[in-house]
This record gives sequence, structure tokens and C-alpha cells, in this order.
Amino acid sequence: MIPVEEARERILDYFSRLELERVSPIDALGQVLAEDIRAPFDIPRRDNTAMDGYAVHAEDTTGATEENPVTLTVVADLAAGYVLDTPVEHGQAVRIMTGAPMPPGADSIVPFEETDEPLREPTQAAVKAETVKVLKAALPGANIRYRAEDITENDVVIEAGRTVRPSEVGVIASIGLTEIPVYRRPVVAILSTGDEITAPGEPLEPGHIYDANAYSVAAQVRQYGGIPKLLGIARDTVEDLTAKVREGLDADMLVTSAGVSRGDFDVVKDVLAREGDVNFWTVRMKPGKPLAFGAFTAPDGRRVPHLGLPGNPVSSMVTFELFGRPAMFKMLGRRDWERPVIRAVTHDRVVNTDGRRFYARCIVTKGEDGRWHADLTGPQGSGILTSMSRANGLTIIPEDVPAAEPGEEIDVMMLDWEHAP
Ligand code: AMP
Ligand code: MG
Repeated sequence: MIPVEEARERILDYFSRLELERVSPIDALGQVLAEDIRAPFDIPRRDNTAMDGYAVHAEDTTGATEENPVTLTVVADLAAGYVLDTPVEHGQAVRIMTGAPMPPGADSIVPFEETDEPLREPTQAAVKAETVKVLKAALPGANIRYRAEDITENDVVIEAGRTVRPSEVGVIASIGLTEIPVYRRPVVAILSTGDEITAPGEPLEPGHIYDANAYSVAAQVRQYGGIPKLLGIARDTVEDLTAKVREGLDADMLVTSAGVSRGDFDVVKDVLAREGDVNFWTVRMKPGKPLAFGAFTAPDGRRVPHLGLPGNPVSSMVTFELFGRPAMFKMLGRRDWERPVIRAVTHDRVVNTDGRRFYARCIVTKGEDGRWHADLTGPQGSGILTSMSRANGLTIIPEDVPAAEPGEEIDVMMLDWEHAP
């Protein structure tokens, strides 16, 4: 048996970062920037008001209070999107809306709340008022957003290597870009194998089951930033398996499920071994002991890495999580594939029978004591896929720990922070 880390290292050796492509920022969500993004201009481009109010000379309002307001003449009404070039003279004010550039001369914004505007009779149209009473002394510079306070022209606003999230999409849009350089998404070909497997939507023959693995893995591929390519189901015959495997060789990675465990008819293993350079491993983990890994050679000579997942639906998902996801992240240029591991109090006795690392499915919640608590999601058979769908984490019970007792703290790898019942 080989340890999880060794299997992962050997797998990751086969992968490298993919080529650069230029895509729209929103399509690049989850992809990694291949070049620094520099700002073509300052943001904000000009000093502008951070509030709706009046642009004034601060010194004109010295000593203003509710009892002794200062009255100014309103000379203009300025909406966002418009520029006023006439200077504001002493004794004057410009009514101004958030985002509008500061008119020349004014050095402070008095918010509406600090004027008589909210106090006026509703009949007296606020916009039409020729004067405004300032009820509080304004400080120079108050409520102004200064030119370049966010971004300075030519600065790097997002460094190469950063992952594009919604906030990066926003920053990129704010400097006017419609395309950015990122590393291409990997295409992952996915093949289910087995005479008993039926595609959802088809009638189910006696003894058959629906294909869960192709879909859960395709969803993982999409969630982790790749493009799944479903190859369908190969029957356990040399011809069908060979043909379907070959269809997957234009992808960046080929994933098969089932047929790699000991008890199987050897067709899948035979075909994988004949068509490619594939190793059959037993990995020191539960679920997911049997795993195949290697590479095929595409007709154009490219080497296509192959990950052969175990057939049991939980094993298939957990092994893809532990080995497929880091491989995808490496192709995407992401370095943050390590999931957060937290310490949680287990409520269950988690028994580890045979010296393998146990990734039991659990639900992590925050307790009233402020600590994290973990409950197993019921029976942990590797065929029980709802144990996975109820979980937000996987316990990590080390290989040499026979059991974790209730009340003990254990490591939990978090898959999902949102999903807690
Ligand atoms: P195998 O690795 O072929 O021995 O399969 C192990 C178990 O996983 C068997 O019970 C299979 O029926 C089941 N299995 C294999 N492929 C799938 C699949 N695509 N979806 C759901 N279960 C599967
Ligand atoms: Mg089988």
C-alpha cells in the first residue's frame, strides 16, 4: 500500500500548467491570471463627492450651528456623470450627487443631513431652493473621494498568479478591460465502465444501477474550474472499452471509474494496461483503496494523464477530491489546492479497522462552546452516496489510530463551509 501523499506526488508529477488564453473576466472566474494587470488610469479619475450634499468652501461655514446657520447661495445642481467647470465662489454652494466630480474652488461636501434641506416643507421643491442653510461647520476635505485614492495609473492592480474571484472581475471591469490573460481550463474526459451501469434517463434493467460517478465527477470538475467531457458508459468488453478510452485522448486528463479493484473481471485493467502506461495502486486510505494512475499517448503524441477511480460512488468522489482536484489546480496554475483542515470535537466513535487513513463523512457545526463539532453522516459504506451529500467535511483519522473516541478532537478536512444543516 502507498501513502496518500506519495500517490498525490506521483500523480502531480504528470501535470503541468496549461497554456494562456484571453477570455472575458466573467468567464475567467476561478482561473489564474497569467500576467500582471496594470491600471491604464487613476481611479477615481478626479476628486469627487462621497455623499449627496453641497460642495462648499469649508471656511465659509466656520461657526455654523443649528441655532446660527450659515446661508449660502445655490448656484448649480450637479448630478453624477456631469462636470462643472465654473469655480464656486465664496458664499456659494453647488448641490451635488454622490460620484459627481468636485467643482473647482469647493473643498468640502456638506451632506444633506447637515443642511436645512430635509427640514423644508415638502411643497417647497428642494431642487429649486435658491439658498441653503448649513447647520454644522464643515471640515476641509470632508466627504471627498480623492483622485487615485483607490488605484494609481500604471500600478499593478492584480498580480499574475492570483485567482479570479468576483472582486477581481469587478476591479478589472472598473479599469475598462474586456479580456484578460489566464491559464486555460483543463478538459477532463470522464468514462464510466461496467455492464451494470445505465445512464440516467434510460430504463433500468434488472440488476442494473444508474451511473452516479460520471455525474458527480463531472460536477466536481466543473466546480473546480475545468470542463467535463462525458464519454458515456463502456461495457466490460475489450472493443467498447478501447474505443471509448480513445475518444477521451483529446482531453487534458482522462478519468475512468470502476474496474480497478481486485475482484473485477480483468477487462478494464487489461485494456488500460494495453492502451496506456497505467499503474494499479492500493492507497492507504478509506474509502478509495484501489486506484489506477498513468498516461496514454494520444494520436498526436501528447501524453494524456489517466486517473482510474474506484467504482463505489463515495470512493470515486473522495479519490477525485484528493487526487483529481490538485491535478486540475496544477493545470489551472492554482497553488491553493490544500483544503482547510480544522480541529473538531467528534460526537461519534470513529473506528479505523485496517491501518488506512479514514476519511469518514461528517457534518461540522459550530457549538455553543465556540468549538467546531463533527457528527458522522450515518453509515459510512463506500456505496452510500448520501453519506457524502449530507457531509460538509471529511474526518482525517490517521493510519495508526485505531479509533477516535467521542469528545476527542480530530482533524476534519472541510469541503464546504456553507453546507451545514
Ligand atoms: P468495481 O470497481 O467495478 O468493482 O465497482 C465497485 C462498485 O461500484 C460496484 O458495486 C459497482 O456497481 C459500483 N459502480 C461502478 N461504477 C459505478 C457508477 N458509474 N455509478 C455508480 N456505481 C458504480
Ligand atoms: Mg465493475
